[in-house]
Amino acid sequence: MAVPLLDLVAQYHTIRDEVRRAIDGVLDTQVCIGGPKVAECEKAVAAYCGCKFGIGASSGTDAILNALMSLGVGRGDEVITTTFTFFATGGCIARTGARPVFVDIDPRTYNIDPNQAARRVTKKTKAVIPVHLFGQAADMDPIMKVARDRRLAVVEDAAQAIGATYKGRKVGSLGTCGCFSFFPSKNLGGVGDGGMIVTSDAGLADMCTIMRNHGSKPKYYHKHVGGNFRLDPIQAAVIAVKLKVLEQWHEARRANAAYYDRKFAGCEKIVTPCVEPHNGMIYNQYVIRVCSDKGASRDHVRQHLAEKKIGSEVYYPVPLHLQECFADLRYKEGDLPHAELAAKEVLALPIYPELTDAQKDEVVTAVLEAVGA
Ligand SMILES: *Cc1c(COP(=O)(O)O)cnc(C)c1O
Repeated sequence: MAVPLLDLVAQYHTIRDEVRRAIDGVLDTQVCIGGPKVAECEKAVAAYCGCKFGIGASSGTDAILNALMSLGVGRGDEVITTTFTFFATGGCIARTGARPVFVDIDPRTYNIDPNQAARRVTKKTKAVIPVHLFGQAADMDPIMKVARDRRLAVVEDAAQAIGATYKGRKVGSLGTCGCFSFFPSKNLGGVGDGGMIVTSDAGLADMCTIMRNHGSKPKYYHKHVGGNFRLDPIQAAVIAVKLKVLEQWHEARRANAAYYDRKFAGCEKIVTPCVEPHNGMIYNQYVIRVCSDKGASRDHVRQHLAEKKIGSEVYYPVPLHLQECFADLRYKEGDLPHAELAAKEVLALPIYPELTDAQKDEVVTAVLEAVGA
């Protein structure tokens, strides 16, 4: 039996009629930019996260870029973030003209190590971007403490973590603002690109709204250079439909994760995800570590799964500090060893809500076979 890494068709079948009605509703009005559907979606996502404002974005990447631009981050500034993340986190920093400062991870959670972040703060530091990787919140309290002491903005990259909680509070509401992605593979995905910024800071919300329309206010008068960072109403309408079932999908992913956790528990060559007791994890990815020091090989496991037609993925094979485009920042191999080792050992397994027990068993059997357990 083939098991894909993600099966969006299975999910679509459960909400097909409502999604089609929502899209038709937009088409019938021909309000194709902005309008009530975008406003409705912004309101719903903000409320879900416990924030006052939501500002739709054309993608998660553009949400981060808009947030940084609206906070005034630019040339001469430094922005601290984790090296172990999707490219967009670091790419957006560089695109503002600021210098990305990459720090290592906590090897248990794969999230930014707050102590290392604190140590890299300089007079030039303007912001920190903690990433809630794989659907688990980064350790926010120590990050917020440093940010308050040093007057830094905190932009949460919550692209993989909508609905995740830290000490009972939703991600996105913990920092200065939070950025979500509606890329179809995220827990809350559109039918194309989309994203959102959430914040309770009215001034920042205003600025983000201006910057997403080329920095114009009023129309055709530009005090700032912004961009076209708008969420389109078709995506907004679909997101609003899916938001209503999101908690149910989170629950199904958590149940799948618990199932894997139990099955892998006796295998010393596999490390299952470590979720801090104060975190509510949404499992955008279920990422195991295949321990090379115990003689197991991630690449071998991945190949074995592929032969059995089981999907898997490596998030991420190259940490940002070793990416070619950041060579001028002069990091070298060995600088951020926890992330470098994780890049060689992590493997994401199918975790989507509609997985059956038979499919999960297939995955478990193949993984255990591959490590010789
Ligand atoms: C998906 C993702 C983004 C970017 O989102 P897009 O909508 O694809 O632009 C940014 N950061 C992280 C950590 C992501 O996983």
